[in-house]
Amino acid sequence: MDRTQSEMAKEAATGLGQSLEKTAKSGEQTDFIRTRILEDQKSGRFHGLVHTRFPPEPNGYLHLGHAKSICLNFGVAREFSGKCNLRFDDTNPVKEDMEYVNAIREDVRWLGGDWEDREFYASNYFEALYNYAEALIKKGAAYVDDLSADEIRAMRGTLTEPGKESPYRTRSVEENLDLFRRMRNGEFPDGARVLRAKIDMASPNIVMRDPTLYRIRHTTHQRTGDTWCIYPLYDFAHCLSDSLEGITHSLCTLEFVNNRELYDWVLETLDVYHPQQIEFARLNLTYTVLSKRKLIQLVKEGYVQGWDDPRMPTLCGLRRRGVPPEALHEFCKRIGLARADSTVEYALLEFCVREYLNAHAPRLMAVLDPIRVVIENYPEDQTEIFDLPLYPEDESFGTRKVPFCRELWIERDDFRADPPKKFHRLYPGNEVRLRYAYLLTCREVVYDERGELLELRCTIDSQSRGGQSPDGRKVKGTIHWVSARHAKACEVRLYDQLFSVPDPENVPEGKTFLDNIAPNSLTKVKGFLEPALAERKVGECVQFERVGYFCKDKDSTPLLPVFNRTATLRDSWAKLEKKH
Ligand code: ATP
Ligand code: MG
Repeated sequence: MDRTQSEMAKEAATGLGQSLEKTAKSGEQTDFIRTRILEDQKSGRFHGLVHTRFPPEPNGYLHLGHAKSICLNFGVAREFSGKCNLRFDDTNPVKEDMEYVNAIREDVRWLGGDWEDREFYASNYFEALYNYAEALIKKGAAYVDDLSADEIRAMRGTLTEPGKESPYRTRSVEENLDLFRRMRNGEFPDGARVLRAKIDMASPNIVMRDPTLYRIRHTTHQRTGDTWCIYPLYDFAHCLSDSLEGITHSLCTLEFVNNRELYDWVLETLDVYHPQQIEFARLNLTYTVLSKRKLIQLVKEGYVQGWDDPRMPTLCGLRRRGVPPEALHEFCKRIGLARADSTVEYALLEFCVREYLNAHAPRLMAVLDPIRVVIENYPEDQTEIFDLPLYPEDESFGTRKVPFCRELWIERDDFRADPPKKFHRLYPGNEVRLRYAYLLTCREVVYDERGELLELRCTIDSQSRGGQSPDGRKVKGTIHWVSARHAKACEVRLYDQLFSVPDPENVPEGKTFLDNIAPNSLTKVKGFLEPALAERKVGECVQFERVGYFCKDKDSTPLLPVFNRTATLRDSWAKLEKKH
């Protein structure tokens, strides 16, 4: 029986849960966040409950950095028998889009994140947030400021100098309330006024120098339409959204360390339920950019063919390339959590992909750079059908039918007219094993009039069916093949790193990360597939024996299947040769 796509999808969906359950039980995965949560649980803080959230801003597609956050938030919830919400942080109406919301849902689900019925939007809280803002004004803890954004910035001070107080800072509660209500009613143009927290312009933490909480934006919001023309800023909306949802541990990346003081100030001043913010290091990866702004640029300016281009570090790009979610779980587990920024080697991701696919991808045969073999002692009108295992180690996972006839395609690289020392594959006079089929000897090399290799005339040992040596003679090389008469032509897309240097964002003056884009990160080749390969479903990952891991692409047509290379094999044929 073949493993169906739905079975694989089911495994993928439960994979995160299972692998995390396993690690939690065996106590394998521990880090400063899990340690703190455990302490909170033991001390009875938050009544021992754990409730996290994954809070993407719907202004781009999710990438590998988000995978780290998804695995952490959903993983921790699962391990501590808690819950995790999906919350769209949609407070900025200018950059957000429903296309992104749908893509984010699909990506989180693909990674195994289950938010059940808890899909929330910061925009659902606009009314509540507005009321909290009025409450702050009534407490004398917020004021309406008429300074422009530039003036506010200029007066904020520096790390060594305190800021200057706004002349509007001393407005009365009544005047502030009146102006804030009129801001809401749309009486003022964009940028005319803002609402600021009244904290401390001399605070050593610049975030605390009367941060802006609301600004005027006469823009239609994708969910609330034209109901609002004032929108809350992240620092105000995020802590209160966490509070309203009863989040216990608000896990965010390191750049919010200084914002924690403001997070705590808002919740304390309003005297509302107060989650704990904990910061962890962002994921940075070599040969990759992980900033939405830059990824948008790659897409919009046509450096790649879309968000799901298999060279993109987006989750949809990785999925299209054939990277299984389990490989990303493993990757996130291996990189762990740290309190200091660092950069992870891209090779670690590839390692996790190979490791998973090596154990899970069925193995079939394809030839990507073909030369023709004619078997002179095999009858013209004969076809044999071999029933070959999809998983060489375990036949119980199913077989497929592989036709064999007088003419085959083999890989150009498996033949040398003039072999170097220790070359054990095909050369004139040498005998190799055609994987699973017969022992084959090269008798003659035929060239065309221009001196190009045309075909190899060979013979098989008819006593060696199945590839077994009939008399115990040693045959060192094993090569793969495809029946030329039955082969299906296909397009294969070979990908390399999109960037040619490990740190593409590190550029001299006058250059940008775009200058580090590698010239040839995509090569398309025509190849030949054994018939069963053409039948694979889009999105399914397979190993082309001895060649690499490939995934059928959505661009496939009935006439021309298209495969993306997910990852290369290491030591592929060296290993095979050792086995026999
Ligand atoms: P970008 O810098 O790509 O725009 P962002 O932080 O603005 O990312 P959000 O949509 O706000 O993107 O992120 C949602 C969640 O994912 C946040 O909790 C954020 O901290 C987390 N996240 C984003 N990028 C990374 C990363 N590189 N490593 C770990 N977590 C990340
Ligand atoms: Mg953000």
